[in-house]
Amino acid sequence: SELPMSELVVRDLQRSFGGVQAVGGVSFTLRSGDLLALIGPNGAGKSTCFNLLNGQLRPDSGSVKLDGTELVGLPPRRIWALGVGRTFQITATFASMTVAENVQMVLLSRARRLFGLWRPAAALFREPALALLERVGMGSQADRPCGVLAYGDVKRVELAMALASEPTVLLMDEPTAGMAPAERLALMALTAELVRERGLAVLFTEHDMDVVFGHATRVLVLDRGRLIAEGSPDQVRADPRVQSVYLGG
Ligand code: ADP
Ligand code: MG
Repeated sequence: SELPMSELVVRDLQRSFGGVQAVGGVSFTLRSGDLLALIGPNGAGKSTCFNLLNGQLRPDSGSVKLDGTELVGLPPRRIWALGVGRTFQITATFASMTVAENVQMVLLSRARRLFGLWRPAAALFREPALALLERVGMGSQADRPCGVLAYGDVKRVELAMALASEPTVLLMDEPTAGMAPAERLALMALTAELVRERGLAVLFTEHDMDVVFGHATRVLVLDRGRLIAEGSPDQVRADPRVQSVYLGG
């Protein structure tokens, strides 16, 4: 079957906080099949970019179009409903609910959105939740409360929850923060597989350069709110401006 082709076109996004220009004119295009890394030092504006893309923050100016639809000005829920999913740096699972119930809750909320007044029971979504959990390697832990999981496993559940909303674009802000190196590489390898198999368009931030250069299809480098380089992992790694930003701290 044909994979969906979607395009998120970001043009000249700007956002200041007081006197600080956190994002100073960022433009790029994210397409289905991209696993696009947004890298840059602390305070470069990466999280602000994510918040501008999913509607949590409003830009001072600029445009974000998903397949031609302007997202700027829409509330985050509407942007989510249009297919822009997100995982968070801070855990977004309910600790007392089971792994499966957490995923079922997202499936339920998606069904309510699609079918309006219909009030389905969460139990209807157990099978699709289990299928998603199987895909992220969490099938065997489906009936454990999220609160008892190891940190890396919570991150996998969050990925399943993000997939449950059937996004075309997935924004992942530091998905591997706090993980051991082997776990990081495994989570990004899984994400890369999902990009290929579902035609997802993923934008992610990451500090671990082994993860970035090992898995990203393209890399954007942000420094003080501006993109200073863009290209393949090899091009970006060889770029003297990138080396100076990283070596200079
Ligand atoms: P990164 O994620 O790359 O570390 P951020 O986007 O979090 O960077 O921050 C970019 C800049 O914007 C920093 O100088 C930060 O202090 C500032 N900033 C971010 N969010 C806010 C906010 N809500 N209020 C004021 N300043 C902020
Ligand atoms: Mg950040």
